[in-house]
Amino acid sequence: MRTGARLGIMGGTFDPIHFGHLVTAQEALVQFNLDRVLFMPTGMPALKVRKIVTPAEDRYLMTVLATASNPDFDVSRMEVDRPGLTYTVDTLRDLRDIHGPSTELFFITGADAVWDIVAWRDAETIADLATFIGATRPGYDLDAARRAHEGAETRFHIDYVEVPALAISSTDIRGRVRDRRPISYLTPEPVVAYIDKRGLYREAG
Ligand code: ATP
Ligand code: MG
Repeated sequence: MRTGARLGIMGGTFDPIHFGHLVTAQEALVQFNLDRVLFMPTGMPALKVRKIVTPAEDRYLMTVLATASNPDFDVSRMEVDRPGLTYTVDTLRDLRDIHGPSTELFFITGADAVWDIVAWRDAETIADLATFIGATRPGYDLDAARRAHEGAETRFHIDYVEVPALAISSTDIRGRVRDRRPISYLTPEPVVAYIDKRGLYREAG
């Protein structure tokens, strides 16, 4: 990538990826003038250890299927291939090494998740490596979040991006598949087909 590039990183479990993730990445790309967005499916997420998560390879492939038609979107295997629990600080360090100091990193995450990050280990290091973009979900009180953050003792720099109201979640999609209800128009059609072909989410999990 050219020097002075702005790289967005969209981290998530993507179990499965859906239009909420895709529209968030697109809005961040446009509103923050990013060059590309790199989707980063987690390996074994440190924050979700107690939850049963679909094999990383399936989540990675669905992310590829969902983003394949967009030339500004890429998918990384970095976390999927790294053994052990996933820590965002490791990923940001690796990306910094790969792209060098001239590329600015923007970590895109749900505005709700931003507050978990402040509690992550190595939060100070993370703050030095990337700017955070918190995506608001429907019903989220952006002004309250801004006010709360202004008063907080943290060196984190968080910008917010407002995304069109999309009450889609992976949890809801998994529940729909389990209950044999439709998931079309909640996630791209190739992902719908892949879930069906592999028989994902049919059992309670
Ligand atoms: P789950 O229901 O299993 O928690 P999820 O739909 O929240 O899944 P994740 O993979 O956990 O999906 O989300 C990755 C990131 O995308 C998180 O930072 C999350 O807050 C954000 N996100 C998820 N759904 C939406 C949505 N509809 N609009 C905006 N951001 C979203
Ligand atoms: Mg979530």
